[in-house]
Amino acid sequence: MKFGTKVIHAGIRPDPATGAIMTPIFQTSTYVQNAPGDHKGYEYARTQNPTRSALEENLAALENGKEAICFSSGLAAMDAILKMYKPGDEILSTNDLYGGSYRLITKVFENFGLKGRFIDMSSPEDLIEQISSSTKLLWIETPTNPMLSIVDIKRVVELAHAKGIKVCVDNTFASPYLQQPLNLGADMVLHSATKFINGHSDVIHGCVIVNDKEIADQLRFIQNAAGAVPGPMDCFLVLRGIKTLHLRVQRACENAEKIAHFLKSCDAVSKVFWPGFEDHPNHTVARDQMKMFGAMVSFDLKNNSSASANKMLSGTNYFALAESLGGVESLIGHPASMTHASIPKEERLKVGLTDSLIRLSVGIEDVDDLISDLDQALSN
Ligand SMILES: *Cc1c(COP(=O)(O)O)cnc(C)c1O
Repeated sequence: MKFGTKVIHAGIRPDPATGAIMTPIFQTSTYVQNAPGDHKGYEYARTQNPTRSALEENLAALENGKEAICFSSGLAAMDAILKMYKPGDEILSTNDLYGGSYRLITKVFENFGLKGRFIDMSSPEDLIEQISSSTKLLWIETPTNPMLSIVDIKRVVELAHAKGIKVCVDNTFASPYLQQPLNLGADMVLHSATKFINGHSDVIHGCVIVNDKEIADQLRFIQNAAGAVPGPMDCFLVLRGIKTLHLRVQRACENAEKIAHFLKSCDAVSKVFWPGFEDHPNHTVARDQMKMFGAMVSFDLKNNSSASANKMLSGTNYFALAESLGGVESLIGHPASMTHASIPKEERLKVGLTDSLIRLSVGIEDVDDLISDLDQALSN
């Protein structure tokens, strides 16, 4: 099955009781048993729910994995992964990552003895010196957030596996339409399905997709034991959003490409970050590992002050000033004060995240309207 068929059909079967073509929302907490232990495979809805099972089967297919395990949010999915590790274990992560992921490692799991270290992984060969005897997991975001640098997943996996270290890729920014890390050797793929996968800015949801049965069993155990499960209504909405994933991401990437080129031509803009530019430092890796260059574009202003950024941020009409990304509507954000406020300023500046950096999540509106909107906001 090809991608555009998987989004519609993988894991989806007409309801055996009624023939309903769409997966029903099984809004129930428990299931009746005929006799103790004699049931239809469903006992209690923290453990199993048929709407969630259909979604898990669909998500596994999208990432070309064997099993998907769903959670109530992207961070709940990350929390479950981190719970597989023990005091003293080190998580080595990209240094330019989602603020909430950084906060979960440093402010929650460091209290339980895990260690987090954050490094630049854009040149994989430098990674070898960074790996220590306590490193147990590499945590990769690519494209990174918000600087949109690219990590060579295949090469990093080779280096990590040679030392017996597992690799998890947070694939939220790319979506499985653009990039499938399990095919490149990664052990786990995480999504905040809140973003492109659901795509309609109306659900918080997360998942992990794996090929290895042992990791799947561990995560399944934690899903049930800790209980951060999504509700059936949210699973239904994510399933519905997925049906247009390929169309939405394709259009959003086409729009982002035009917007990146437009911004590059603007006098008020000093630098545009988008992996599709041939002079982007990891352009060739992006071209090889992604189908298109993504729907995220970041840029910095020549007038390098938060005041000029604020003016731009409050001056758009179609781009809504909001956290999050990956919805059908375009969003504009200020990473320094919004998504990345939980990262200390000196850490932010190390990766180039200045107070005037602006991040766009490009939606699927008519691109001419989006460009005129940015144009008028920049010239105010
Ligand atoms: C939003 C996001 C998360 C967290 O997901 P939630 O669903 O908000 O918990 C993790 N990683 C990335 C890259 C994100 O954009």
